[in-house]
Amino acid sequence: MKSLWSDAEAAQFPGDLGQRVYTSRLLGRDKSLVLHGGGNTSVKIDGQDLFGRKRPVLHVKGSGWDLELIEEAGFSPVRLDHLVDLSTLEALSDPQMVNEMRTHMLRADAPTPSVEAILHAILPFKYVDHTHSDAVLALTNTADGERRIRALYGDDVVVIPYVMPGFDLARLCARIFPRDRKPATIGMVLLNHGIFSFGDTARESYERMITLVDRAERALDKDCVPAPAKAPRAATAARGELATLRREVSRVAGNPMIVASHTDEASLAFAQADDVASIARRGPATPDHVLRTKRIAMVGRDVDAFAREYAAYFNDHAPAAREPKTMLDAAPRVIVDPAIGVATTGRNARDAQVVFDIYEHTMQVIQCAQGLGGWQALPARDIFDVEYWDLEQAKLRKGGAAPAFAGEVVLVTGAASGIGKACVQSFLARGAAVIALDLNAAVETVAKRADFIGVACDITDAAQLGAALESGVRAFGGIDMVVLNAGIFPGGTRIESLGDAQWGKVMRVNLDANLALLRETHALLKLAPRGGRVVVIGSKNVPAPGPGAAAYSASKAALVQLARVAALEWGADGIRINTLHPNAVFDTGIWTDEVLAERARHYGLSVEGYKKNNVLRVEVTSRDVAELAAELCGPLFAKTTGAQVPIDGGNERVI
Ligand code: ZN
Repeated sequence: MKSLWSDAEAAQFPGDLGQRVYTSRLLGRDKSLVLHGGGNTSVKIDGQDLFGRKRPVLHVKGSGWDLELIEEAGFSPVRLDHLVDLSTLEALSDPQMVNEMRTHMLRADAPTPSVEAILHAILPFKYVDHTHSDAVLALTNTADGERRIRALYGDDVVVIPYVMPGFDLARLCARIFPRDRKPATIGMVLLNHGIFSFGDTARESYERMITLVDRAERALDKDCVPAPAKAPRAATAARGELATLRREVSRVAGNPMIVASHTDEASLAFAQADDVASIARRGPATPDHVLRTKRIAMVGRDVDAFAREYAAYFNDHAPAAREPKTMLDAAPRVIVDPAIGVATTGRNARDAQVVFDIYEHTMQVIQCAQGLGGWQALPARDIFDVEYWDLEQAKLRKGGAAPAFAGEVVLVTGAASGIGKACVQSFLARGAAVIALDLNAAVETVAKRADFIGVACDITDAAQLGAALESGVRAFGGIDMVVLNAGIFPGGTRIESLGDAQWGKVMRVNLDANLALLRETHALLKLAPRGGRVVVIGSKNVPAPGPGAAAYSASKAALVQLARVAALEWGADGIRINTLHPNAVFDTGIWTDEVLAERARHYGLSVEGYKKNNVLRVEVTSRDVAELAAELCGPLFAKTTGAQVPIDGGNERVI
């Protein structure tokens, strides 16, 4: 591990707090040190109040901030003397501790200080850095972890036995650190938890962290006997199996869940390891992770068995807790299965991704510790105390309503432009994960976020469609909603000159491909935790065709008839299918300026007049159609199937 310090970069962060921001970001850049809000840093600065009285202040990372992206506003200023006073109390509950910290901040709108703030306060150094370094965790999470740490670091660090983060840990450190500190001491290792470093300057504290972690990495390189490399077998779980697993996970969780599969070599090798059933069920690398990953991974696919075991773990430990506890959902967050690889679950795709980011490191830490003679996690009791500590339970009670489609997945065709692209935004806004398909490769960049994948594919090609569905289901676990939007409109050809080729092409895209999509997604829709939903983008041309668009009108009419039959056939499977008939939506892929001008001329209107040529005299946009498509999948239409809804500003020929 190397220091990332650069004088030029550091110069852009003036002042003690600026330097604190800079080296915190350096720590945050290295994912083997801190992940997703893990770790924390602080700086002590002499301040003055409005009356000129000296007031030393601890600026400590606020909760909700990530070290990699932290700014000055992310540090909570808390009165240092008060924090030190708190460390001398016999006992303080965590909610009381948070109250004391919040009521002794110097900025009313600052975030809640880290629960490790008192610990930062009692360390007599200007800068303090704390990480959950993978290498240090691999060393301490072994049978003789304490001996290894002491042998490696000697007097350079003070060693603190495991105590749950919060007041008790701060108090213990306040007792042990002054007693065990030697002149050489530059850090502190918390067994089964992480490591601290400190110094007079931001650079000194940061570089001591790097030095200490580098020594742990070298020790691992020397002692760790890696498992014999065996190329993993490819994942063989079919999309139906993944969707079945997701349905089970969602049932146990009590709401739809995203299940994201990872089939990279490391994940598959871990899932196929001979001892996986043992090592994946011993506990997390650091208690901090339990809130994301649950205590242990589920090995295999028996979700009910996992849920029973989880309930037993809760019932074993909850009665002894100080406060009454509410059990969290009993669904797994990490699933390891030889045919799947590693699947992670979450209420949304971002959560599932965070779980994977953490577990990727957990797998490495486990394997290293195995090489040192055996991975050993904390006892279940200690993990339970973190998973169910008062502060987390309070957050759970506060909750907040989840978005309408949280945990659900929609597939949208023709998603690179127009109505399809607008649907991507409307469904994302309602919390759904989106699988976007389009012939145009631009679909891959319609959105850049954890809950979106764009797949360039020709939906008239069975192999390409199958592959797109596979990647969609691997990414999110299933498909709950489908928007059949892709279509082509070669306008202005009268029947007497309409060739078979053009007719055939329109039918293949607008009709045949949609039959294939319905057929191939039926099994997935049937497994949707809240029931499947399909929205067909029809056309005003179905109830009111226009001359010159025979192939288009006929294809859309046939598609609508197909949808009506699907509504009849699939009702018993809990799948709703409804059709929208938009008209004159001009911000779409098929309406080139040329086609628009031609159509306007055809009706003897200006382009502007043609756009609002409806009963309400309004322009209908892609967004209008997309919002209605999303609502058709929502609870308002829960009891509607086989319906056709116009969205056209009112059309005299339709009304
Ligand atoms: Zn920590």
